[in-house]
Amino acid sequence: MVNHKSTAAFSHACRVLPGGVNSPVRAFGGVDIEPLFIESAQGSRIRDIDGNEFIDYVGSWGPMILGHAHPAVLDAIHRAVDKGTSFGAPTEAETELAERIIGAFESIQKVRLVSSGTEAVMTAIRLARAFTGRDLIVKMAGCYHGHSDSLLVAAGSGVAEAERRRSAGANPGLPSSPGVPSALAALTIVVPYNDLDAVGAAFEAHRDRIAGVLVEPVAANMGVVPPAEGYLESLRLICDLQRAVLIFDEVISGFRVAFGGAQERYGVQADLTCLGKIIGGGLPLAAFGGKAEIMDMLAPNGKVYQAGTLSGNPIATAAANATLELLTQRDTYDRLEATGAALGTGLTQAAAEADVRVTLNRVGSILSCFFTDRPVRNFADVQTTDIARFKRFFTAMLERGIYLAPSAYEAMFVSLAHTEQDVERTIQAARESFKACS
Ligand code: PMP
Repeated sequence: MVNHKSTAAFSHACRVLPGGVNSPVRAFGGVDIEPLFIESAQGSRIRDIDGNEFIDYVGSWGPMILGHAHPAVLDAIHRAVDKGTSFGAPTEAETELAERIIGAFESIQKVRLVSSGTEAVMTAIRLARAFTGRDLIVKMAGCYHGHSDSLLVAAGSGVAEAERRRSAGANPGLPSSPGVPSALAALTIVVPYNDLDAVGAAFEAHRDRIAGVLVEPVAANMGVVPPAEGYLESLRLICDLQRAVLIFDEVISGFRVAFGGAQERYGVQADLTCLGKIIGGGLPLAAFGGKAEIMDMLAPNGKVYQAGTLSGNPIATAAANATLELLTQRDTYDRLEATGAALGTGLTQAAAEADVRVTLNRVGSILSCFFTDRPVRNFADVQTTDIARFKRFFTAMLERGIYLAPSAYEAMFVSLAHTEQDVERTIQAARESFKACS
């Protein structure tokens, strides 16, 4: 693969951007090669500045569920741009988007729009603390909830990758990053994902001090790890009994594993829900929402402060409304399920043919192929997988025109633009790549 232009662009970028990137995982540190610089993307394909084209399973880390550059979304953006780029004042399109979100999620009565998932979760925990008058938050090891101070504790994917490279493990209850005050990290109690006993023990140890339980209802920042049977239901029950706020971070799973997210798929309602990625249609937009009695504590109705100059930006809101409209079309989620299933089955078979042991975790259109023969149910399991083999597999796939997330801790994202032929080509590439790394 020729990548002279990307190589030059990366060394240029490294002179002015820390690590040459604006978000760590983009630097390809998890696969020990240099990143490709992107020129454009269309449908299921992404093209780098050297002219190489790939079938893309990163999808901008989740938002591009319709595929890249969907004409209806571009059209909505063009129409919005022509009217001005930001007003710092309310627009009707924001109300329309809030209504779409409320229509999709039974548990959401009111919504606030923000610009990133980090902001959404940061404010959701502030609300939970204000609502309960308590300080502690329970989070699950390997779940990522953005880079706010309180939540950079055992934080999955990007952080795990950086930590692994520093040869340090995740430190439950301790900051995952220098610069996070340990006093703040100490307010976050970390328990293993899918472990209800640990949640029970946390409540036992910190009686009447836990404001909320924060969880990715489908974990997708340690690769994809589905909730065990009954896990989400039990978290709901524990929070009800303990009068704690149940916060589902559906930044990845929202509008992804079903239109109404994990809450629709598993039939469990959260008190507060965080959304991002897909709802922005590829633009910077995120949201949180939930019960009116909690949401009305937000300023200007209540005293809990949160604000944003670009919150509900008209261009992002237009992309969001167009994206959610398209997702309401019939068969959307059946198609995503079918494509995800075909890819998952194909990858498993290809690995078996090459005598490579893998565990494939999939929920709808997000999946992970872990290099292990054991079940993967939590972050400790993920950390026992064969990372060196993943790196070889990643490089072999890239050379064959398949762009996977450059880290063993990330998911594959399937979009509506991925065709049967794309999946067949991917499986063929995987057959060769598994052999190359066996
Ligand atoms: N929550 C989850 C579950 C995420 O996956 C992410 C981003 N990967 C975030 C929160 C933070 O979102 P953002 O990057 O938009 O700040």
